[in-house]
Amino acid sequence: MASASASGVPEAAEALRGHRILSSRLYLDDVPTSQVHSESYLNSLKSSKKVARIVEVPAVALLPNFLVQQKLLYPFRKHLNVGGSVLSAKLALERGWAINIGGGFHHCSAEEGSGFCAYADIALCIQFAFIRLNISRVMIIDLDAHQGNGHEKDFGNDGRVYTLDMYNSGIYPFEHVAKKYIDQKVELDSGTKTEDYLENLDKALKVAECRFQPQLIVYNAGTDILDGDPLGRLKVSPEDVAIRDEKVFRFAKDQNIPLLMLTSGGDFSHHSLIYCLDPVNQFALKLFQEKFLHELWLRATRVWSLAFLFQLVLAGHHLWRANLQRMPDDLVESPLLDVNPPTRARSVVQDSCRYAA
Ligand SMILES: [Zn+2]
Repeated sequence: MASASASGVPEAAEALRGHRILSSRLYLDDVPTSQVHSESYLNSLKSSKKVARIVEVPAVALLPNFLVQQKLLYPFRKHLNVGGSVLSAKLALERGWAINIGGGFHHCSAEEGSGFCAYADIALCIQFAFIRLNISRVMIIDLDAHQGNGHEKDFGNDGRVYTLDMYNSGIYPFEHVAKKYIDQKVELDSGTKTEDYLENLDKALKVAECRFQPQLIVYNAGTDILDGDPLGRLKVSPEDVAIRDEKVFRFAKDQNIPLLMLTSGGDFSHHSLIYCLDPVNQFALKLFQEKFLHELWLRATRVWSLAFLFQLVLAGHHLWRANLQRMPDDLVESPLLDVNPPTRARSVVQDSCRYAA
């Protein structure tokens, strides 16, 4: 392990380990503090008020911070967010593709959490790929309805990362500083319909293919582009969300590039996984039949009441119990499993919840 220096590099790695963001076995000592969470940012999460602002749930400010740490932030670090995305990056390289249903918190940067995103799992799993997986070129394809301002700020001046971001420019986060860091920006208007959406995507993928040759694709696949989503305000049908995902998978397959998919924002019960991956379908549906948890988080983003405090604790309990689950070996007959033949790809499915990012 590298020794501490004035550059702040080892300190960044120590902060990640000290705050239990990453396992002590994951030495990311070469990562500069500008690209991972600093000690000061991680310490700021010891304030429940700060966390309440990040997750946009005012009731969290009233909770003791130890409860916020245990029931809200710890599951995000371990299972729902950082841990799952890092593991999925490793699996994507090993097996062709992998999915972390809990990942894709693209509004969080090294120094600032927002939009329900407390940890920058995208930046961290890419740093992990750089340092531990011998990768030097990564393409982020961010098709969540919102701009991915977090990873854009983290990798703005990093030539190893190419960002294609297609988003609704009329909604949160209106992050003009981060926009200048996007390598390939496709801005959509509210109300954009399926046909236009897919046409824009086709054009964008063709341009991306010419401009950058990555060794790993990180696909942020938010479903808040769905028609009827109150936050995304686009009008893409569920069937065409599946087509969108297939286009990105084909894009990776045609170039033989490993793909890491993060499901990001939106309502998972309508996620394209349900339509695309029949074997995964049954498994995922089983996980997400816990409508109780789903409804709690639905209310969590909108309701401010004492009753909600009780609900929040229960939701945290469910999250705490969420465990990383691997797909059984026999679930390998999906139409998308020929992404990188002859590798027998399997996906990692992780329990998750609806969130508003
Ligand atoms: Zn979103």
